Amino acid sequence: MEDRRLYSPKMVRDILEKHNFKLSKSLGQNFLIDGNIVRSIVEKGGITEKDFILEIGPGIGTLTEELSIKAKYVVGIELDEALLPILKETLRERKNVEIIHGDILKIDLEELFHKEFKGESIKIVANLPYYITTPIIGRLLEEELNIQGIIVMIQKEVARRMIAKTNSKDYSALSIFVQYYTDPEIILNVPRSVFLPKPKVDSSVIRLNLKNQKMKVENKEIFFKVVRSAFNQRRKTIQNSLSSKELNISKEKIKEILTLCNIDPQKRAENLTAEDFAKISSLFPPI
Ligand code: SAM
Repeated sequence: MEDRRLYSPKMVRDILEKHNFKLSKSLGQNFLIDGNIVRSIVEKGGITEKDFILEIGPGIGTLTEELSIKAKYVVGIELDEALLPILKETLRERKNVEIIHGDILKIDLEELFHKEFKGESIKIVANLPYYITTPIIGRLLEEELNIQGIIVMIQKEVARRMIAKTNSKDYSALSIFVQYYTDPEIILNVPRSVFLPKPKVDSSVIRLNLKNQKMKVENKEIFFKVVRSAFNQRRKTIQNSLSSKELNISKEKIKEILTLCNIDPQKRAENLTAEDFAKISSLFPPI
């Protein structure tokens, strides 16, 4: 089989030029140009020949090709219509790949999973514009679809926040959200120099392994509201940060709840574990 791997700036430039392709900044089009990074993502992402993959934003197919070599079946969803003829060319030898033209923010994921993967548990791989990455991860986790894991390229700082533990400066509402659903692991740090064009930030690839057993939470909505309110005012004591308008609860009631949970009201959000927040939120009246 002809080796069509797009592993150099020249090869990427040539194919873009050949198709007279204009890069779109708003679609976050920074394409990978380093074969070692592409191989590492697939290897450290733990992709095996049994895997069914949904790749979001295949671009010109660099990562798609490597995924299709390792995995059983790959479906790519690409928003930019102008990339479709390029993908057709770069992936023409790959029989186990299907490219769908669509917007991951608008697509009915449940229907897509049913149609394309017929009930198989899948892995998601994505390298997307950073402003839509966190909302997409949120949606994928909240919809509780049949997913084993998510392997995603994100801004280095965001990856650090996702894996952060209690009492660290990166610990945030995002850490608790991600760790409620998954065991996150940074598998690779990626310098900006391996993209064309070069972005302004460094990135990390994070692997989110979905948990079989989640922490027990009485009411998920109240739990995440409490967490968000606490971290929205992270410099305040927990007693003050939870007495926010959004939660509609008096300071006295908060004090009572904290006492019942055996939590010092002078602590701050960053000193509390997810279990502490679960306890607190279980005593909250309906919001
Ligand atoms: N995966 C390729 C790579 O690593 O070289 C391309 C990554 S590039 C950072 C992001 C890709 O996501 C682009 O091809 C862009 O057109 C596509 N994209 C952006 N927004 C999207 C959306 N809402 N749905 C699907 N694809 C999208």
